[in-house]
Amino acid sequence: MPRITQKVTEDPSSPLILLRQIRDVMASPASAQERLDAIVRVIASEMGCDVCSVYLLRAGDVLELFANVGLNPSSVHLTRLQVGEGLVGDIAATASTINLADAQHHPKFAYRPETGEEKYNAFVGVPILQSGKVVGVLVVQDKQEKTFSNDQIEVLQTVAMVLAELNQSGKLVSRRELREGSSTALYSQHFIGLKFAPGLARGVAVMHRKRIEVKIALSEDPAKELQRLQIALNGLQDSIDKLIHQSDLEEGGEQRDIMETYRMFAHDKGWINQLVDAINSGLSAESAVSKTQDDMTARMGKVQSEYIRSRLHDLEDVSNRLLQHLSGEHKTPISSDLPARFILVARTLGPAELLEYGRKKLKGIILEDGAATSHIVIIARAMEIPVVGKIASATNLIQSGDPVIIDGDNGEVYLRPNDDIERTITEHIRANQMRSQIYAAQQNLPPMTLDGQRISLNINAGLFVDVKYLQAEDVDGIGLYRTELPYLISPSMPDVRSQARVYGKILRQAGDKPVIFRTFDIGGDKQLPYFPIDGEENPALGWRATRIGLDRPAILRRQFRALIHAAADKPLNVMLPFITQVSEIDEARKLIALEIARAKSDGIAIPKKIRVGTMIEVPALLWQLSALMKRVDFISIGSNDLLQFLFACDRGSQRVSDRYDTLAPEVLRIVRSIIAECNAAGVEPGFCGEMASKPIEAMALLGAGLRSFSMPPSSIGPVKSMVRSLHLEELTKYVDILCTSSEPSVRRMLERYAMDHKVVV
Ligand code: PEP
Ligand code: MG
Repeated sequence: MPRITQKVTEDPSSPLILLRQIRDVMASPASAQERLDAIVRVIASEMGCDVCSVYLLRAGDVLELFANVGLNPSSVHLTRLQVGEGLVGDIAATASTINLADAQHHPKFAYRPETGEEKYNAFVGVPILQSGKVVGVLVVQDKQEKTFSNDQIEVLQTVAMVLAELNQSGKLVSRRELREGSSTALYSQHFIGLKFAPGLARGVAVMHRKRIEVKIALSEDPAKELQRLQIALNGLQDSIDKLIHQSDLEEGGEQRDIMETYRMFAHDKGWINQLVDAINSGLSAESAVSKTQDDMTARMGKVQSEYIRSRLHDLEDVSNRLLQHLSGEHKTPISSDLPARFILVARTLGPAELLEYGRKKLKGIILEDGAATSHIVIIARAMEIPVVGKIASATNLIQSGDPVIIDGDNGEVYLRPNDDIERTITEHIRANQMRSQIYAAQQNLPPMTLDGQRISLNINAGLFVDVKYLQAEDVDGIGLYRTELPYLISPSMPDVRSQARVYGKILRQAGDKPVIFRTFDIGGDKQLPYFPIDGEENPALGWRATRIGLDRPAILRRQFRALIHAAADKPLNVMLPFITQVSEIDEARKLIALEIARAKSDGIAIPKKIRVGTMIEVPALLWQLSALMKRVDFISIGSNDLLQFLFACDRGSQRVSDRYDTLAPEVLRIVRSIIAECNAAGVEPGFCGEMASKPIEAMALLGAGLRSFSMPPSSIGPVKSMVRSLHLEELTKYVDILCTSSEPSVRRMLERYAMDHKVVV
């Protein structure tokens, strides 16, 4: 850890002067209202602005003007805005800062004649936050058209922390009023977020222990604060070490790797230096942690990469724990205090925190933020806990003890569900459980159609935990092993040995069942912090996957080397992602040949047989099929990417997700023509996009000629039920007719067909 030293800062123009005056106000024996009045005067005079106002939240989601200089004095305690109304209401609704040079002409500006604020152009407002909830808004205005600097905004944010502290006294707005005041608290509500981890669950809301309230924002004794920081950091680092050693985390497993990365954050020099700087600028240790965390959160909002954002979430989790150590409130959740079935509600949640809640009573997770690829989601999936993400203001809208239902399959949350919803969802949960029991009971039945066609069902995998599904008799193998995961969760580029260890373990667990290893698909939305790719306007179309591998052959060669070492004396299936031109396959094959030659000269056993295949994800390949067939042993259709490029609809964008249907006749025609080329050339065709995981889609693909699929393990049961209820020859004739359709979708026709022919979809 870097040495923590005190810096001498006495710049006369520094915000310290303003903060010192505020500290004096706070230390004075005046009433809470008098102190509030004094604070707005200090801000207006020190920042040289015409107006400063403080709005506080009252019952019924109303923001009342509590203190002001510059506006009509009679408007204090008279002017009221609803949360969401006007600029001030917008800041409260979104908990974000607004900084405008010309507020008058902003569409959200709500004119209040009693204030006389029509004269003021420049406007900056910051939320006053208490325990993560907005409790008020601090606003500064000026006649001059100008925007406020980042430094000025930072000062206002620091003052907002002091105001939160003042408000917490209950002398301005009574605590009871605030508790009872939420007008939304009684309604049954429904939210739609993003599906992060599948499953349905019901339980009682438990609010994740949120940020510790920072009681003392400023300090005159940096040396003392630095000492407190040092002690808290030691406590934090020790507690993470203990968690790693006590938890049952498998050596070499993803959860272990994630926790090791997490430990690295707790020792991060850059972070500790930022904390030290903040303390040296006059903040208490707690507010230094809080401010550094806020800065990071603000930056995080601008970062595009989901992966980097999830890394920052981990760092935020570490900050929260440090605050708990500083306040002496660090304790692990005690299982006996938790309800028997609970849904955890958090803004963000760190992997360590999740592990601390244990698996027994925790039934689901709701996150305000997060990303589908974040560590918390990876761990939750492995623990089979449903997660719904991106539920805005979840921690404000949901209260501890509220009954909640979460539907991770559809990304939905039902808060305080009424009887009808409760009944319907309970029915679904029961039906799901029954269906899983039926699927489990049918595990040893082959995926065979009524007319005797054996269909190959494989799983998509990327974690060790997925591999356990291979034990099921109806799973033929791994049709897509996404190898990028070890790259994503490792703090640096994984070396040959650690990669070979992962691949070897997969192959051992798979036994005789085939595994198709897809070489890394990094780049795009899967950015590695130790291998940044900047300046891509369209990362999905940019430098990613095999393009990186061929431009930086050392990286791809290392992966081939690891795969060759892992598959010594066994068959090896390698699949290349994101191939655009067949020449790329020739280049990749040359690298494999070099690695085989190297293994031989090093006396290392080589795989019994190496089969090379490609994903079909880029439409350009559709016009190179005959050349492609000469170069590969198998192909796998990656509909997730192929369809996003075919229809020019970003696969991650909700807005365009219904601009096309996966069951468009042109999709079926494309699949048919790929299969025809494969059959003519003796190349094995497969399909690994998400589309195959839905029974009706899988049925259409069977009709178009596919006989081998790879899908998430949870889809094997439903797809097999469809296969076993289907007469394939009859369906094929029908799909041939549908392929000639000029409709945008043939879904309805296929649904009708399934109904009429009693196909279980
Ligand atoms: C695909 O594109 O269909 C695919 C399976 O690859 P990924 O989802 O990993 O991009
Ligand atoms: Mg893809």
